[in-house]
Amino acid sequence: MIATVKGDVHDIGKNIVTVVLQCNNFEVVNMGVMVPCSEILAKAKAENADIIGLSGLITPSLEEMAYVAKEMQRDPHFRMLKIPLLIGGATTSRAHTAVKIAPNYEGPVVYVPDASRSVSVAQSLLTPEQRDQYLQDIASDYERIREQHANKKATPLISLAAARANKMKLDFTGQYAPLKPKFIGRRVFKNYDLATLAQYIDWGPFFQTWDLAGPFPAILKDEVVGDAASKVYEEGQALLKKLIEGRWLTANGAVMLLPANTVNDDDIEIYTDDTRTQVAFTYYGARQQTEKPVIDGVARPNQCLADFIAPKSSGIADYIGLFAVTAGIGIEKHEKRFEDAHDDYSSIMLKSLADRLAEAFAEHLHERVRKEFWGYAADESLSNEQLIKEAYAGIRPAPGYPACPEHTVKADMFRLMQCDEIGMTVTESFAMFPGASVSGFYFAHPESKYFNVGKIGDDQAEDMAKRRSVAKEDIERWLAPNL
Ligand code: SAH
Repeated sequence: MIATVKGDVHDIGKNIVTVVLQCNNFEVVNMGVMVPCSEILAKAKAENADIIGLSGLITPSLEEMAYVAKEMQRDPHFRMLKIPLLIGGATTSRAHTAVKIAPNYEGPVVYVPDASRSVSVAQSLLTPEQRDQYLQDIASDYERIREQHANKKATPLISLAAARANKMKLDFTGQYAPLKPKFIGRRVFKNYDLATLAQYIDWGPFFQTWDLAGPFPAILKDEVVGDAASKVYEEGQALLKKLIEGRWLTANGAVMLLPANTVNDDDIEIYTDDTRTQVAFTYYGARQQTEKPVIDGVARPNQCLADFIAPKSSGIADYIGLFAVTAGIGIEKHEKRFEDAHDDYSSIMLKSLADRLAEAFAEHLHERVRKEFWGYAADESLSNEQLIKEAYAGIRPAPGYPACPEHTVKADMFRLMQCDEIGMTVTESFAMFPGASVSGFYFAHPESKYFNVGKIGDDQAEDMAKRRSVAKEDIERWLAPNL
């Protein structure tokens, strides 16, 4: 039995696992997405499942998986029968499985790095002659990982105060001065032209979805995976053409360009209008606290996204953008059509194309923002390859990614942009629905670059809890991967 955990909508990898296992004579019950723990366990009992597989994409799902393991431990059915629990999905790892999930449950807990491994793992677990040895190997492997983890020297961190003192000090008055966007407020895009978006697709990640490694387009001629890559590429192109002509998917998006200034070093106040008297919401930034090297006598800064926006105290009027786009509206009907025809391959292919179109939408809209809506790069003219390589000025960091690792801000963003009006919502774990969605901020400063917040200290968790007026435990949960 296989399911994506509560609050998460990640689906493609899990569906590929389902198909791969079925092709190898396993009977698989796929419970779909956003499945609460109680339902997973009840179904596993009703079906008398031999193995439970959990999937998840976003970091809050890691915690939910640990919770499912705890609940299996509490339930004699699973504890006594030692029903194996398999863990997979983008943010999961062998280390996390060994350290945070496996200790919660006496039965076997096994991390599965990709779909192609699921068969050998499942076979090892269900073949009586192999099972004991296999489990022993896993147990000693995970024990070793736990020991390494326990003995790992903590990354040396500096205090939050010291990190702030070493923030990135950008110039907002010289070479670059913030430019007022062509409009302030929100603009909505409904039923965006899919053929336009298709031209902005980055095909690279498409192959990763199918567990095919290599850069595009060289992958099509790769000695090992070239044939397989060419086949999914051709079939992907064919389905893309069909879905555009048949208007199977609806692409909607929203952009908001608003006045903003940095306060308390790390936070960005986003104002409802140019009077800057009313705060729409405050983005609470996380700042790097690792010790930074000194290169050529210059200390590298301890960065925070707030560094890219002019401080309120400077009196400089700065701006920020928000966006949310989806290409997944209306997909269910077509998925169901394929699934009813037992064509899981096309169903997965459709999902992967919707994901590509959503990313393409983000790329395309970002270009329009730079050239038209904000207009700070009106003369820009870049090829799709250059766009993919981010050869433009400014960034569009996304919540849940390394520069803004925390997902909860999506609740504020979606509320402000009234995303429900364009068919987009966030789940209780702040995953976006439909799954084929992208959201983020726009920063215009030419020095703004992606970075990784990395490990942060207890002092920052405490400070952030105060700034946000929330319990420190909440911050610790939301930023668990960084603490
Ligand atoms: N061409 C790719 C684009 C997505 S990945 C595709 O089609 O899949 C790049 C995006 O990830 C960026 O635009 C940004 O939104 C996000 N991103 C990457 N690194 C980031 C970081 N360090 N912090 C925040 N967001 C990041």
